[in-house]
Amino acid sequence: MITDTKPPQATPEEEQLFLGGVREFVDSYLLPNTRHWEHDRLPDDIFAECAKRGLLSMTVPKAAGGSGMSCVAYTEACRLLAQGDPALSMNVAAINALCLRHLNELTTPDQREKYLTRAMQGEIELAWGLTEPEAGSDARRVRTMARPIEGSPGYFHLNGDKMFITNGGRAHLIIIIARVNEKELSAFLLETDQPGFRLGERIPTIGVRASWTSQFTLKDAVAWHTPCTFEQAIGFLHQGRLGIAAMALGIAEKAHELAVKYSMQREQFNRRLCDMQSVQNMIADSETEIQAARLLVRNGAEKFDRGEDVVKDASMAKLYASETSNRVTNRALQIHGGRGMTFEYLVEKLWRDAKLTEIGEGCSEIQRLVIAKQVCK
Ligand SMILES: Cc1cc2nc3c(=O)[nH]c(=O)nc-3n(C[C@H](O)[C@H](O)[C@H](O)COP(=O)(O)OP(=O)(O)OC[C@H]3O[C@@H](n4cnc5c(N)ncnc54)[C@H](O)[C@@H]3O)c2cc1C
Repeated sequence: MITDTKPPQATPEEEQLFLGGVREFVDSYLLPNTRHWEHDRLPDDIFAECAKRGLLSMTVPKAAGGSGMSCVAYTEACRLLAQGDPALSMNVAAINALCLRHLNELTTPDQREKYLTRAMQGEIELAWGLTEPEAGSDARRVRTMARPIEGSPGYFHLNGDKMFITNGGRAHLIIIIARVNEKELSAFLLETDQPGFRLGERIPTIGVRASWTSQFTLKDAVAWHTPCTFEQAIGFLHQGRLGIAAMALGIAEKAHELAVKYSMQREQFNRRLCDMQSVQNMIADSETEIQAARLLVRNGAEKFDRGEDVVKDASMAKLYASETSNRVTNRALQIHGGRGMTFEYLVEKLWRDAKLTEIGEGCSEIQRLVIAKQVCK
């Protein structure tokens, strides 16, 4: 039984106000710029703008200075952001579920005091570092070693390589999963402004390109141990997966909306595309699958808010929503025909962005393993 869930603290009115602000942010800032950002990166002020709108404190309770949003509101925010800029949605989903919850729930009072408020204000940018060249789906293969620093209780030297770390090239603070001995792993707070942190070349990706996907090497990097087990640290992935599922849903919704609109305008054979049965089939399948994904995401988030076990539900939501997102964006591109393959139409970008959702925070094959294990226990 997962007991790490928290009852919602923001009122329904506060959540509606917050989500209204997110919608306005999507329309006024993300949609007009998403194309431009993918040729470069998310702008320098993006996290400060997110903080202003409460997007960097959703998973932190009000008592700790956060906005105490329910998981339903968190997934809604990730869904809406993905309609505007999927790369930002991915960052916000991970920062809230993996980084901020870790900072608030698995740290000492000194650590919280030093970092939490500034992180929620967007002054300290965050990243979460588990994946390594030899440790992807098999997270327990992490090789980065943590060695206590003599005379500095709580501080360790870290040595190893990390790759595919979202926002790692901009982050001031990274939560690093490292090995403390042959059997055990734990988590550490690593400030990037130190000689032991050696940032490698940014990793270019086909989708979510505006996100700074990074690789780096740690050479006697000084890090502050957060007193937690590996299971506690990666337990936050269940909420993270609901966030990525919502991101997948937002991408699918946007692509579907564009495809429907296009099919109602474009004519061939003296008919609109939407009057042709093959196109209608695509539209009907996308509409149905999106609704099913919506219900799975909602079900997982509501269970989380009730404090129920979401291991299976989060994986089912992510598995189905991410695969739906890939099918829907593929159909949307098909409906756009040749124009869908040009950079003038947003569907090709959504099609590329959707791919991440089947891979990040556990690929579909791992989600299926998790679900089957829960069913057969
Ligand atoms: C854009 C982007 C952002 C990312 N951000 C972060 C981040 O912020 N922090 C972080 O720590 N990581 C991050 N990742 C890493 C991501 O979580 C991993 O890429 C993912 O977990 C898969 O690991 P891998 O790439 O090493 O693939 P592998 O583990 O090598 O797997 C390759 C393929 O093998 C198959 N496979 C693997 N294991 C199994 C199995 N047991 N059963 C059946 N099939 C299997 C799957 O098809 C899988 O896709 C990011 C990745 C990307 C692309």
